[in-house]
Amino acid sequence: MLGANPNPKLQVGDKALQQLAQQMGKEKEFESTNVAVFFGQPDKTVPDPYFNGKGPDRGGCNFCGGCMIGCRYNAKNTLDKNYLYLARQLGVTVQAESEVYDVTPLNGSDGSSGYEIKWKRSTRYFKKKGRVIGKNVVFAGGALGTVPLLLKLKKKSLPNISAKIGSGVRTNSESLLGIITFDKNTSFSEGIAIGSILHTDEYSHLEPVRYSSGSGFWRILLAPMAHGRNVFIRLSKLIYDFFRHPIQNLKAISVWDFAKRTQILLFMQTINSTLRFSRGLFGMKSSMEAGPAPTAFIPEVDSLAKDYAKIVNGKPVSLFTETIMGIPTTAHILGGCVMGNNSNDGVIDKDNRVFGYENMWICDGSMISANPGVNPALTITALTERAMSKIPGK
Ligand SMILES: Cc1cc2nc3c(=O)[nH]c(=O)nc-3n(C[C@H](O)[C@H](O)[C@H](O)COP(=O)(O)OP(=O)(O)OC[C@H]3O[C@@H](n4cnc5c(N)ncnc54)[C@H](O)[C@@H]3O)c2cc1C
Ligand code: SF4
Repeated sequence: MLGANPNPKLQVGDKALQQLAQQMGKEKEFESTNVAVFFGQPDKTVPDPYFNGKGPDRGGCNFCGGCMIGCRYNAKNTLDKNYLYLARQLGVTVQAESEVYDVTPLNGSDGSSGYEIKWKRSTRYFKKKGRVIGKNVVFAGGALGTVPLLLKLKKKSLPNISAKIGSGVRTNSESLLGIITFDKNTSFSEGIAIGSILHTDEYSHLEPVRYSSGSGFWRILLAPMAHGRNVFIRLSKLIYDFFRHPIQNLKAISVWDFAKRTQILLFMQTINSTLRFSRGLFGMKSSMEAGPAPTAFIPEVDSLAKDYAKIVNGKPVSLFTETIMGIPTTAHILGGCVMGNNSNDGVIDKDNRVFGYENMWICDGSMISANPGVNPALTITALTERAMSKIPGK
């Protein structure tokens, strides 16, 4: 239902990735991405092209590069233009900016009589609270919403939730970098946010990611790429790089339109390693569970970034939280309510039903039980559609 179709236009950053693929002898592993964007005539509004006229009017993509911060041209297939829009046509009330903080089974412990759901306004200083009664509950707060809520509720109103809650959290084993070009005429900002992908090996995938002109907030988070085992090695490399290439570094720091001149690279792997989320004194905490610890310093990334930088005449930079603190970054945190055969090895079954309760489902990134190694939204959506299709109609 997301309406995914191939990106019709490769841009500068995509062509550079294609060149890198050729250099690596992996031309066949390079491809355009399938994306949930309406590629009609740019900026022209047309009647719903997806749902036999039941959906909203749409505008054609104008390749402004702003997908990451929200499409202002009605072209990106966001939930308010498909699932939520169609749900409202069926009479569903969508109550935004309301945080659920308690879910209690009615008259009994297994939820077969329904649930009381308590919420509070999430965007007001003086918080308004409310409650709804429902027969069914679907948790869809994402790995960072559903998992902390259920960790809390297991100790309170939902004690039957599996002890596996918080287990099997994954980072998609990824790394995010930037390449700042010194060519004043190059603009990485044109195009959809992610227009191509290179499968660098059986487990790994590299994508150029763009931001629209003016979206340069990243600048304050970046430092020259410096890998190493500990902070002293990394800081020494960083200082050495500053003194060895002072002009290059000053040019990189002071580029005029940072988003336009910087190509973000996103590297993701299927390689398995898991963390465990639990409740600590100051909120949620994470600890290593299984496999190699996620790392900010993946050797392949270092050489891929340097090769890409040569192609676009640029300088690789990474987030200072990686360079200085050694903390890896992910845009794809997943797991924590994983699937299993029973409550000893999972929180939900293969149809997303929560073990220990009736009429309760989890349908979000927390259900994902392996690193997809690619952007996960489509997988989350497909599994959710599958789970919903298992619920008999009225
Ligand atoms: C910058 C960025 C770029 C990305 N780009 C891509 C991409 O191009 N392609 C891709 O496939 N994936 C992408 N991802 C990943 C993708 O967005 C997520 O994997 C996906 O949105 C997760 O879906 P979800 O339903 O699990 O959670 P979310 O999309 O996070 O939705 C959870 C919702 O629940 C709400 N919520 C949480 N707790 C509560 C509560 N207690 N009560 C009420 N509401 C609550 C949250 O506010 C949120 O609206 C990107 C992620 C980031 C951060
Ligand atoms: S590039 Fe992205 S933000 Fe810009 S019009 Fe197309 S879908 Fe919308």
